Amino acid sequence: MNSSMGKIRPSLAKMLAEAMNGCTGCGVCVRECAYLKLYGTPRDIAGSYDPVDSKNSSICFECSLCGLCTAVCPEGVDPQKLFLEMRREAVDRGKGSFPEHKGLLAYERTGMSRRFTWYGLPEGCTTVFFPGCALPGTRPAATMAVYEKLKESVPALGLVMDCCAKPSHDLGREQFFQQMFNEMTDWFKSHGVQRVLVACPNCYKVFSDYAPQFETKTVYELLAEITPERISDAPAVPVTIHDPCVIRFDEAPQGAVRTLIATAGHSIEEMPHARKTALCCGEGGTVSPLAPDLAGSWGALRVDEAAGRRLVTYCAGCANHLGKKLPVTHVLDMLCYTPKPSSGLITYVNRLRLKSRFKGTVPAAVTRERVNPNASRSGKLRPLLFLAALAAVIILVRVGGASQYLEPEKLRTLFAGFGVVAPLVYIACYIVAPALMFPGLPLSIAGATVFGPFWGVVYTIIGATLGACAAFLIARYAARDWVERRLVGSRWNKLDDETGKNGWKAVAVTRLIPLFPFNLLNFAFGLTQISFLQYAVATFIFMLPGTIAYITFSSSLLGVLKGRVSREFFIGIGLLVAVSLIPKVAAWYKGRSLQAPRPAVPWNLRRSLQRKAAVLAVLCLLSAGTYTLIRKFFWALDAYLYTIEFNLLFVASRLQDAELARFVEYLVPMSGMRAAGIALACQAMAAFAFPFSSLRTDVAFTSAFGTWTGMAYFAGADLLVTGVAASIGRFILGDLLPMYYRRKGKDTLSPAPIWIGWAAAALLAVPGIPLVLGALVVGGFRLHPGRSLAVMAAGVAVRALALLLTR
Ligand code: SF4
Ligand code: SF4
Repeated sequence: MNSSMGKIRPSLAKMLAEAMNGCTGCGVCVRECAYLKLYGTPRDIAGSYDPVDSKNSSICFECSLCGLCTAVCPEGVDPQKLFLEMRREAVDRGKGSFPEHKGLLAYERTGMSRRFTWYGLPEGCTTVFFPGCALPGTRPAATMAVYEKLKESVPALGLVMDCCAKPSHDLGREQFFQQMFNEMTDWFKSHGVQRVLVACPNCYKVFSDYAPQFETKTVYELLAEITPERISDAPAVPVTIHDPCVIRFDEAPQGAVRTLIATAGHSIEEMPHARKTALCCGEGGTVSPLAPDLAGSWGALRVDEAAGRRLVTYCAGCANHLGKKLPVTHVLDMLCYTPKPSSGLITYVNRLRLKSRFKGTVPAAVTRERVNPNASRSGKLRPLLFLAALAAVIILVRVGGASQYLEPEKLRTLFAGFGVVAPLVYIACYIVAPALMFPGLPLSIAGATVFGPFWGVVYTIIGATLGACAAFLIARYAARDWVERRLVGSRWNKLDDETGKNGWKAVAVTRLIPLFPFNLLNFAFGLTQISFLQYAVATFIFMLPGTIAYITFSSSLLGVLKGRVSREFFIGIGLLVAVSLIPKVAAWYKGRSLQAPRPAVPWNLRRSLQRKAAVLAVLCLLSAGTYTLIRKFFWALDAYLYTIEFNLLFVASRLQDAELARFVEYLVPMSGMRAAGIALACQAMAAFAFPFSSLRTDVAFTSAFGTWTGMAYFAGADLLVTGVAASIGRFILGDLLPMYYRRKGKDTLSPAPIWIGWAAAALLAVPGIPLVLGALVVGGFRLHPGRSLAVMAAGVAVRALALLLTR
């Protein structure tokens, strides 16, 4: 030990002393290990240890932490623990962070993220299955099969998809490891978990060493107890077994795996290094990124000892690593028919699909997705990072002189070269993009810049819908096999089930809530049972909110890059936030509807008609009375109403063109109730008397009162008018839906399904479509009052924004 090293962790000081005093330098371990051959006996390494010296303190990261030295040492020295403690010391001193480990840490972070974790505990659950990260990724079907099999002996079996944080453990990130692992085990304890069944030897090691309060057992032990029948038809062949090094001292799982292999009908020929003296596969201790030669030497030894025999192992990580060098089978491949384990990026997709399938399979009374406190901090920082990046790009653009190329006008002029076919070119690009898996965002930005927010939305929604339809048709008729090969797995199967049960609703949900990647989703629907027409219509309607949000935001991006922040930028951000809140609102609504099913009210046509007659009579009486009162006693008010009527007629007849300025002049002196009254009258007239013509009152009101006040006037008036029109619609058409229900055998007054509400909102949102049409849908389909209000408010708000952006 170097005397200048100062204060070190007491546990490390103790281990260094043990190595110095206990190791005789016999060299038994050195003969087994390429790392020790390079750096000397554990006593040599302990003697020259200097935590202050970065080079010296980093050599512990080249040890595979396999424990073979510990297993063979006749003196009972434990070098593996010493080298792990050295790693922790290096991390404490800020010398244990290597860029080569970033990939592995990202893998770990993903495994413990909210998106990838899922805990599901049924009622009375005391045992959970913890499959780890690698097995669900490479063998999702086998993982599910194991869960089903285990349930035969543990009916209330829980399921926990999470990462045990072994990578951080091995990299000496003790604090992080303890924080994450303890948070998980505390949750287990507080929910009555007593036993953990693991599939991965690394998880087994972590739970055994750091959570002694639980009984930790491998699934292989339980499977061996259940004695599975031999389900594989593969011919029995001699195999050899690779025991993962982390589990070298645990005879029970080693024996169980051998029992399972024998049950599968294969004969076992042991290698010289097996069980307690097993060799590392090369992946141990996260050595390979830093010292690939040392890591590779372990794999080479395994290949030599296997001598051409098929290797069977029970660690998905070992199988993956050794599988690049020789034929390797995971023991579960033998039991569960795994045709070909997945690798690369598809393993992440598999884990997400498996999570989704478990969510539908485990009868969970308690669930959770883990929030990594460290990850969530970075998640909260993401908007700030985005703004910082945007600011950096703006500065670069301005300082670098690139702003001259970002003039929307120049881009428009460039595009104008295509003449009238420019929109067609844009739409054609959008049609081809999804089939070629090209991301839509760059196209959207270009479209929004060139065509502006309104026509950008129109062309984009047309192009995106046609593109989604093209991919759908390719999957259904032209390249079904090709698509099927890419969409294997339970999640896509579930999508098929969902579509079979709920038809277009599955399309609606997946378009509104981006759970699936857009491009793959289009292909996936092509393989389901949904009709093309349903798919196309639902895609068009339910992509509209997201399209409006993205295009509005994108239309301002070039301006922002040049340092000009427009109102479209803020509106776009607001819309993006609103669209991103849809999943949360949907979850809230789903939970609410599950909690409180509304009883159906029986419908009676006669009673309904009697009620309508009564309402009509009261309305007539009220109108006649009001009219007489005004004419007789309030002649001034009558004159005032006449003036309003006169002005409205003027608006109706003249506001189309040059008279707009005169109307603005007329509005300017007004304020408060009077302005609101005029707005209401104008919008009512626009809605009922001239539904197909544009009175341009939105322009007049924003010019007279300013953007936001003017918008508040005409949007508020629109909402009131829509409410009245919806009431009229319900009054006139409201019996049609119960009649339809009765024909279907249901005597009920139940409101229409939610998709009708979305369709009404879409109709209300588009400025060119008469307001009363959407309102009639809202009323005629007897939407629930709360839902009606939400639909009308959303539709009118989007219409008002669209009008603002396009005038
Ligand atoms: S690689 Fe394995 S055998 Fe070699 S020192 Fe490290 S733990 Fe011991
Ligand atoms: S086997 Fe034990 S005593 Fe021998 S060199 Fe290795 S650690 Fe030292």
